[in-house]
Parts: sequence; structure tokens; C-alpha cells
Amino acid sequence: MSVAAGREFLAIPGPTVMPDAVLQAMQRPAIDIYAGPAVALTDGLLRDLSTIFGTAGKTYIYAANGHGAWEAALTNVLSRGDKVLVLESGRFAIGWGDAAKMLGAEVEVLPGDFRRAVRPEAVEARLRKDAKGEIKALLVAQIDTASGVVNDIEAIGAAVRAAGHDALLMVDTVASLGCVPFAMDAWGVDVAMAGSQKGLMTPPGLGFTAAGPRARAAHKKAGMRTPYWDWTFRDGEVHYHKYCGTPPEHLLFGLRAALDMILAEGLENVFARHRLLAEATRRAVDVWSEGQAIAFNISEPDERCDTVTAVVTTGGESAQPLVDYCAQKCGVVLGRALGKSEGRGFRIAHMGHVNAPMILGTLGVVEMGLAALGIPHGKNGAAAAVEYLAKAVPA
Ligand SMILES: *Cc1c(COP(=O)(O)O)cnc(C)c1O
Repeated sequence: MSVAAGREFLAIPGPTVMPDAVLQAMQRPAIDIYAGPAVALTDGLLRDLSTIFGTAGKTYIYAANGHGAWEAALTNVLSRGDKVLVLESGRFAIGWGDAAKMLGAEVEVLPGDFRRAVRPEAVEARLRKDAKGEIKALLVAQIDTASGVVNDIEAIGAAVRAAGHDALLMVDTVASLGCVPFAMDAWGVDVAMAGSQKGLMTPPGLGFTAAGPRARAAHKKAGMRTPYWDWTFRDGEVHYHKYCGTPPEHLLFGLRAALDMILAEGLENVFARHRLLAEATRRAVDVWSEGQAIAFNISEPDERCDTVTAVVTTGGESAQPLVDYCAQKCGVVLGRALGKSEGRGFRIAHMGHVNAPMILGTLGVVEMGLAALGIPHGKNGAAAAVEYLAKAVPA
């Protein structure tokens, strides 16, 4: 038996569901890469991306995924031998640190917990001990997609300033940009990076960096610079320079359509929608947890992020049968657990182009799977999500 026919719903935290308008925008011939329309497309995208990053600084677009944008961010501001402090809270900042190490940086990890957010006090304390100013940059993810945590970047920025330290604050916003508030300049972030395929609802293949004034000053002395990622080259007047080669035109057409949708809905409304659908998901998981077989990965409620909910099995059992059931029987593809909970959990993404039926449908399917597989769980979790949304979204 199966009830999976129809459009499959991809509930993994990236790539996410692409709006039809984004798909349609790419269905067209290529255009001249030197003429007016291509230049105007780039100018508009760079302007709107800077708005979404919350910066008066410049944004750069790369034909690359998030890992590429990590490398872009690092090579533009660091030199070999520079020390970077990785703020652990999951898996992604660690991965960014691994890239920094391979590029020749000296990497120290400020140990964290797979189930907790970075503690700003710990950042401040570590920086206060660095009297000689050896630490040149901090790497942190705003949302860690593996653990489901949201880090308080504003508080971390304040902690860096409270310590009187001048390390660059570098933030991975791949799983948060365009979904939750991010205010690069107001929060004292020097470099932010992101990718196209998560909250920005565009196919994988575009990476972004945004550079503040302190990052620009560091860039002038950076010894890790390489031709493709280099901001200075991309600041050149020729359109071709802005991409260090042929622009990935079709992805740019798609991104234009996606940003138009985000700006038409209004950033505040987009953030509110994410908050509501995330909270609905948490209400359901909260009820299911009463069965004591599954639990939130993030232990503190206010550290759970609004783009993905990571669930773990309490006894270390595999969640694969549940993930398989949802995919094969119901056409809902859940995210697998990554990092320290690998193999013993699942993730529900509520990121990007998502609405109430997508999320309520997904929650209904997960509950159906829990019941069908005989996994102990509190009943009526999906109903709790409905009840929450009915109150939170009044007539
Ligand atoms: C997905 C993700 C990345 C990696 O992006 P890729 O496009 O897969 O290289 C980096 N950081 C975070 C927080 C992510 O969620």
C-alpha cells in the first residue's frame, strides 16, 4: 500500500522547494554577457542581496555552492598562519574551519555542544585571554542545519566588542538568510556568506559573500587571495569581472525571480511565516516527545531555529525506517540526521518556499509513520500544530 503518488514534497534543509516562478524564469535563452540587460540584472541582484544581508557593504556572487562561498570568505581576508577561532554548535562552523585549516590557517575550536547554541560569554572569555590579538577571525553559523540550533549573532557581536578584540566576525548564513532576521552592519558582522539553495529558493550553484569595512581593510593585506574568489578583481568595472568569467546567467534569472517574491511578500512577513511554521512544527514534536522515543536535538527551546527542526531518537535507534516510510509510502522526503546524531534522527525543514499545507501535511505524515511503525509517541501532535496556527493566524 502507498499513498505517495502526486508531487513529492522535499522536506530536507536544502536544496529546498523552488517556486514555479523561479523555475520558469530560467526557461529562456542566454543573453549577451556584455550588454545592458545582463549588467542591470547583476546590479539589481547585488543591491537586493546587500539589503537582505542588512549591509551597506558590497555583496559578491560566485558560481559556487556554500563550500565555495566559505572559501571565498576566508581567502579574501586571511593570510596563511593566521589564527581563526571556530565557534562550535553543530557541524557547519567546524566544516568551515576545516576549509580554513586546509588553506593554511591555524584553527582553534571553541568547544560547544551539539545540542546547544554558542554561549556569547564563552566567546568573550576566550577573546579576553588573547591579549596579543593572535585570533584574526571568528567563524560561526547563524543557523546550524545539522543540529537545528540558532546562534545569537547580535550577542556574539556584542561579546567581541565587550572583549575589546578586533578579530573579524565571519558568519555563515546559508540556512538562515531570507528566513530569519540578519543585520550584518547593526550586529557588527564583518563578513557574511550564504548560498542560493536554501532560504533563497533558487537552484544550488550560487554562493554569496558580503564584506563590511573592516573586512575590506583586512582584504588589502590578505595573503590567501586567489584569482577566482578575489573581491578586488570583482570590483572591476567590466561586467565579466564581477563573476571572474561568464556569469551563471540562468541561476541569476532564477535568483531574480526568488528575490522578487521575497521582497514582494516583505522580509518581515517572510520571517513571520517562518516563525509560525517552525513553531507549529515544534508543537507537534513536543507532543510526540511525550512517548519518550524521540526528542528535540536542541535541548533549550529558545535555541531551536526557525528553518529546520532536528529530532533525535532517545535510545539511539535508527530513524531510517521512519524516513523510508515517509518517502516511500507518503511522498515526503525528510532530512536525515547529520553530525553527532548521524543515523539516529531526522530533520524537518521549514525553510524557504513553504506554506501551511506543506508543513501540516509533513507533520501529518510523520505522525502517520510513527503510528504505522509502532514508535511510541504522544498522540495528536499534528493536531497541536493546527491548533497553534489557528490561534496564531486569526481570521
Ligand atoms: C548547506 C549548508 C552549507 C553548505 O552549503 P553547500 O551549498 O552544500 O556547500 C554550509 N553551511 C550551512 C549552515 C548549511 O546549511
